[in-house]
Amino acid sequence: MNKTKIDWATMSWNPVTGCRHGCPYCYARRTATRFNAGLEDPALLTGGLHVLPEKIKATPYPYGFEPTLHRYRLGQPQNTEEPQTVFVCSMADLFGRWVPTSWIVEVLDACRKAPQHRYLFLTKNPARYLELDHLALLPHESNFWYGSTVANMDAVGMYVMQGVNVNSFWSMEPLLGPVDMAAAEGLPEWVILGAETGNRPDKVTPAREWVDNIVAFCEENEIPVFFKDNLRKYFPDLPASAFPWEV
Ligand code: SF4
Repeated sequence: MNKTKIDWATMSWNPVTGCRHGCPYCYARRTATRFNAGLEDPALLTGGLHVLPEKIKATPYPYGFEPTLHRYRLGQPQNTEEPQTVFVCSMADLFGRWVPTSWIVEVLDACRKAPQHRYLFLTKNPARYLELDHLALLPHESNFWYGSTVANMDAVGMYVMQGVNVNSFWSMEPLLGPVDMAAAEGLPEWVILGAETGNRPDKVTPAREWVDNIVAFCEENEIPVFFKDNLRKYFPDLPASAFPWEV
């Protein structure tokens, strides 16, 4: 696990890296590609999946941004005694449809073995949470928080967590358009609001109206909101951020 600059967690932990969503604003792909050692995998699995039983010293991303289970990292939460808020898989989508269920189970088990920490998961594929819940494989622990990226109305339509009895949150970062939270099937218990960073030509600048509508809805429904610094850059007068475990 590593200290993180992400302002809503204290550490990030990447037992799985690599992602196939192909988001145009992805910072993780840029980082992984930069450190790609272009190594041949002697044990490449079906579907282009990689498992690393041991650390390869030369680079943290020997297979670039291809899905990779770093099995040697699974014990890291247990080896960190001081309680942390851990962003799990900041360099992947652990719940992407290409990720084997056995990998997800290994990661969730490793979290269970270190209950001193709070774990924040994040996916663009919340249907996988539901699928795992139906298989009784989604832990309902109070220190597990299941996040979904909800950047626009398309993502609202993909949010299917109603009736799943777990802690949930939305990462509305980068906010790419107006979002009517009332249209969602189920509401989160926390919202993170942020803007796109980087210099992509089609970079989206958030409109104040989009932010105000979300904030008003959250106020009405008593949903705490965390405002990322990259959004405060546009709107410095935003209210103070709130964490659901502190209210
Ligand atoms: S889901 Fe995240 S890690 Fe995957 S491509 Fe999109 S931004 Fe990158």
